[in-house]
Amino acid sequence: MRTSVSEIAVEKGVKTPPSEIVSKKRAVRSPTISREIRLVSRPHGLPVPDNFALVRVELPLPEEDQVLVRNLFMSVDPYMRGRMNDGSSYVSPFQLDQPLDGAAVGEVIESRAPGIAPGDIVTSRFGWREYFVSGAREVRVVDPHVRPLSAYLGALGMTGLTAWSGLNLVDVKAGDRVLISAAAGAVGSIAGQLSKLRGCRVIGSAGSPEKVAMLVGELGFDAAFNYKDGDLPGQLKAAAPDGIDVYFDNVGGEQLEAAISAMRLNGRIIACGAIGGYNEEAPVSGPRNLALFIGKRLTMKGFIVGDWFDRMPEFVKEMKVVIAGGGLVMKETVVQGIELAPHAFVDMLRGGNIGKMVVRLTGENPSAAHAGD
Ligand code: NDP
Repeated sequence: MRTSVSEIAVEKGVKTPPSEIVSKKRAVRSPTISREIRLVSRPHGLPVPDNFALVRVELPLPEEDQVLVRNLFMSVDPYMRGRMNDGSSYVSPFQLDQPLDGAAVGEVIESRAPGIAPGDIVTSRFGWREYFVSGAREVRVVDPHVRPLSAYLGALGMTGLTAWSGLNLVDVKAGDRVLISAAAGAVGSIAGQLSKLRGCRVIGSAGSPEKVAMLVGELGFDAAFNYKDGDLPGQLKAAAPDGIDVYFDNVGGEQLEAAISAMRLNGRIIACGAIGGYNEEAPVSGPRNLALFIGKRLTMKGFIVGDWFDRMPEFVKEMKVVIAGGGLVMKETVVQGIELAPHAFVDMLRGGNIGKMVVRLTGENPSAAHAGD
């Protein structure tokens, strides 16, 4: 685990752009001051700024077999909302008054670990902070030439692996008619494009006309609709008159119910997420048409991306070929600065993102500036 830090200032209620910025000089040479976001109270419904605090801490020097890393990008993800509750789940809750964590990509500033050198690009679980000191085994050195480097949080990271795993889970193949919800988001936008590459007909649902236009115009979806326009069965019928074989469910609720009604015989449902209910205080109602599973011989399979981590090398190899061939548009929404990370997180939960929502933690563009290009 991370070496202990000395806390030097706490700023509660993170809501405005910074009044202070860590100097670039310090960032390049032996930084000892970092800023991190902590959870200071548990949200009820949608998180608010007072649930978070921006804290300045002094980091120790790396010890034997440790590295000091400056984070370049960090991820905000829907599953983090569940971790802000105090209940048990497949992943442990965040602790109050402790820094949040999550996926990040950073640059090694100092290393006392064999095989890791300053300048190396690493991924880690130490997001929500500008710098960290950790054991060498807690970071993964990655190819520094990938552009943008934030792709390690998106198409080449957990997001992409989620999309890929979900499609493999139910063996999505050429000819399948695939419906994807939250299609303009991180997982959905990749899942849709990978389905197209497999030879499927792909329909997406999303929450704004801009997103719908992007899905068809930029990402090559065959059809898309705005679920906020209502009449889900009617919109689905218009987009997929013959029904759907596969539903990649990211949201649950009414969209799941409409999808079940539109499923064809032997249809498969990928239970990936249920973001429509993540901010609800009470459990949300289930679909009213589950009896259709019987006559239609439907299958619904849930999965957790962590169960697929051992297939990461296979996934990355495949994705790099797709990306190199120009077969994938990597959409992302970038928010600048650690102090706006809580805002980025909440905005993502509200649909403010197109593609992967990431927070850039350095002033310059790290993808352009990294040495060795
Ligand atoms: P996204 O980038 O898709 O961001 C979340 C999106 O959800 C928003 O942009 C918004 O888009 C949509 N949304 C929010 N509220 C609602 C609502 N009430 N109804 C419908 N859509 C809503 O996030 P991710 O791609 O990271 O995650 C997508 C899903 O995949 C989530 O459910 C997540 O939990 C799940 N997931 C599951 C994993 C697993 O291991 N099973 C791993 C990673 C993610 P819009 O404007 O279209 O409403």
